[in-house]
Amino acid sequence: MPDIEIVEVSPRDGFQSISAFIPTADKIAHIRALHAAGLRRIEATAFVSPSAVPQMADAHEVLATIRADLPNLDAQVLVPTARQTERALDAGAAHLVFVLSVSERHNWGNVRRSPQESAQEYAGVLALAGAQTKMRLNVATAFDCPYDGLIDRHQVFALLDLMIPMAPAVEVALCDTTGRATPLHVRTLFTEAMARYPASVRWAFHGHDTYGLGAANILAAWDAGVRIFDASVAGLGGCPFAPGATGNVATEDAVWMFEGMGIKTGINLAALIETGQRTEATPGAQTGGRVRRALMARKASDRRIDA
Ligand code: MG
Repeated sequence: MPDIEIVEVSPRDGFQSISAFIPTADKIAHIRALHAAGLRRIEATAFVSPSAVPQMADAHEVLATIRADLPNLDAQVLVPTARQTERALDAGAAHLVFVLSVSERHNWGNVRRSPQESAQEYAGVLALAGAQTKMRLNVATAFDCPYDGLIDRHQVFALLDLMIPMAPAVEVALCDTTGRATPLHVRTLFTEAMARYPASVRWAFHGHDTYGLGAANILAAWDAGVRIFDASVAGLGGCPFAPGATGNVATEDAVWMFEGMGIKTGINLAALIETGQRTEATPGAQTGGRVRRALMARKASDRRIDA
């Protein structure tokens, strides 16, 4: 039994930033490889407007196939609206991720409505989902917004005060969307949130490594008591607001850090690195992370010594 839960987000958060359509069979093979490396919870796809995000147009087929093939995989899917929730449930979704932003401008840019309107939408999503569907709430720009900069914690709490009472047993991910959060900010926000809301809430952290603080921020969240972390193999995923910068925290970096501290992740690092190497070869992939490159360099130098 792992000590923490790593949620692999590359099939959604990573692939959606690649413009050339990735064949559905390749997406499914990627999810199978991640599952074979030990990942048991994967954000498999998003049910969003296919005209807005053509990469996710095959959401139904991806989800239906992996639900049938990998019965012990907890496959979560992102939904921004009640309408898309109906599509996700039709495809057999058992775990939904509702996303909204604390920042007014960021939420308008993402889903064309105010955060308060998204909170109302969430009530509709909960009604459709019912008690049998697992629910995660992704709170984007919980620390920092690409347009407005630093986000005041009272803005985060104003939204959560509205939403948590609708479903107090929810999992809430506070997301550092820009990667500009610092470890102290991460630890403080989680500590205050945990003190403010009922113990039934499960907390998760979604970080980005754009400024090199991805692992440090994960550790700060862990220090505060968070045990669920989002990560993406090979750090797959761009950051549209920082061209050329790396995106999500690399899963292998998180695994390396936790396993090195004696905290079990349940993930086979060697298998994960192999998947990361294949992921890097995906046309248009923007990758990052440190551990994979370090281990590959070490492997190459070992080969030279052997020869
Ligand atoms: Mg992300």
